[in-house]
This record gives sequence, C-alpha cells and structure tokens, in this order.
Amino acid sequence: MKLTFQPYNLNLKHTFSIANFSRTSTPIVLTQIEHNGIVGYGEASLPQYLGETQESVCAFLQKVNLSEFDIQDDMDKIMQSIDAIDKNNTAAKASIDIALYDLKGKFFNRSVREMLNITAKNTPFTSYTIGIDSEQIIRQKVKEATPYTILKIKVNRENWKKIVDIIRTETQKPLFIDANQSWICKEEALENIHYLSTKNVLLIEQPLEKHNISDHRWLSQRSPLPIIADESVQRLSDLELIKDAFNGINIKLMKCTGINEAYKMILSARKYGLKVMLGCMTETSCAISAAAQLSPLVDFADLDGNLLITNDCFRGVEIAEGRILLNNKNGIGVDKI
Ligand code: MG
Repeated sequence: MKLTFQPYNLNLKHTFSIANFSRTSTPIVLTQIEHNGIVGYGEASLPQYLGETQESVCAFLQKVNLSEFDIQDDMDKIMQSIDAIDKNNTAAKASIDIALYDLKGKFFNRSVREMLNITAKNTPFTSYTIGIDSEQIIRQKVKEATPYTILKIKVNRENWKKIVDIIRTETQKPLFIDANQSWICKEEALENIHYLSTKNVLLIEQPLEKHNISDHRWLSQRSPLPIIADESVQRLSDLELIKDAFNGINIKLMKCTGINEAYKMILSARKYGLKVMLGCMTETSCAISAAAQLSPLVDFADLDGNLLITNDCFRGVEIAEGRILLNNKNGIGVDKI
C-alpha cells in the first residue's frame, strides 16, 4: 500500500471573525492510499486548538511506511503502529485511518458501516452550526438553515441569552448550545441551563473549562439538560477520567485518530451510560462521509463541516430533510470531483 498526500485550502462560505482576527479559508491535507490500482481517500482537517498545521501533518505522514502492512491486516494492528510513530498528531493519524477504511472497503466490496456491522437505518438528523456573529448575520444564517431541523448555536458568557433570544424570534427549531468553555462559574452555568431548558434546547456542549472536571460533575448531576464533553474528551483513554462528570461525549474523527478509535469510543460510552454526539471540523465531504458511516450508532450528529465551504472536492453523504442519508457505495462512500 502506498500513501501520498497534498495540502489543500478550503474556502469558507462566510468569513470567520473573532476579535480583530478574520479568515476566509482554512487549511487541510488530503491523503490517498493506493493498492493494486484501487485508491482510498482520507483527510486531515486542522482546527487550531489541536495544534496541527499542514506542515506538521506532512512531516508526520512522511514518517509513515505502509509497505510493511498487508491490505488484510486488521485496523487495530495498523493504527497501533501509526499511533506509536509520535504522540499527538491526531488529525494526521485520522487522515490515514480514513483512507485505509476507504481503501479496504473498496478492495473487499463493502461500505465501512458493513465492515463494522452497522445498519444504515435510523441515521440521525444533523445540526447546522451558527457561529457567534452580528445580529444581522445570525438572522441570515437562521434563514440559510431552513433545510435543517436542528441548529447548533455557539455562544459565550456575555452573549448567550441575547443570541438565543434573537434565534427564538426567527424559529422554534430545537437547539444544541455550545458554550465552548466560556461559562466560568458552575452556579451561573446551572442558572443559564435552567433558562435554556424552557427554550427547546436539547443539550449543552462544554459549558466550563476543559480541565475543570469536578465542576462539570457538579453541573451534570443537577442540570435539566444533558451536558456533553467536547474539549474535555479527545481520545478513548480520556473516557475513564470524565465518564461520571458528563452526560455524554462529542466524538470527532480528527480528535481521536479516526474511525477505528471513534467506534471503540462509542461502544465504551454506551457501556458507561453516556450519550454520544458525532461532531466534525470544517472539512470536505471526505471526512464528513467517513464520520457519517458511524452515525446510525449515535444520539446527536453535528456533521455540517462540508456545508460551510465552497470548494468541496468530494461528493458523498447527503442530507435529506435534515437527516443524514448514507449511500450504498463501498468504503466511506465518496467520489472525487
Ligand atoms: Mg464544541
């Protein structure tokens, strides 16, 4: 098996602005693994908080030698070896995991969900994300989100009530609220959540600082809405520490090294009685379709990264009336365009 890779820049539909910083594109790295003329596609998408860059991903991928593996080798064996090359680099590792699953699926004529014995029934609705922005842009984005049945709203400590109140003048759709660690005090967070529980909100993502496990535990035991860990949980090994401090976890392929570990995290979360959300970064239909293969197993999906860009180079999973629609293609179910 032979790995090749290439940096690529995604153009954003909306300029992303925070304080005096703004950007119109976001970097990723596309991977391909070839075996006997069959090509599997993968992707590393790079949120700044994970610390990876196009350069670090390419440097990591240069160290990977897939010629020592056979297409028949199981994913645990291959991914354990990739994981051991260096610590961190989870998006770079995920880009190999995704391309390998795609290649294996195409080689053995099966979709990834068939490889994992997942039925395509009961795929969840996906939320459509609305970032922190001016009132005018928020109203415009709510209108753009008409095809979606759930909205994911990013908020902070100062603006959460104002934003939710604006949205409630436009729509009564159910909401996911992502506080992104901004609610610094647990009592204040609980008060906010009580207000939100009267506003058709389904869950609260990462209300407090990611290392503050004890206050999250306090909050999860009292909250009328499920508290979902995002930044507090990255990999399977993190679950043990946070399992009784949250009501659920947000799994993202780029945080956890890909499909192989994400699937294990879903099984572990269920064992601990946790709800499961499947999230994403700003990425193409390649990584989104890979994650979507696991979506029949989860309670909540936030797989809209490909909807927020204008130069998607893959066609894959589609959304029908807000619900994820898996196709019958082999591998992760994408075509390069
Ligand atoms: Mg989040």
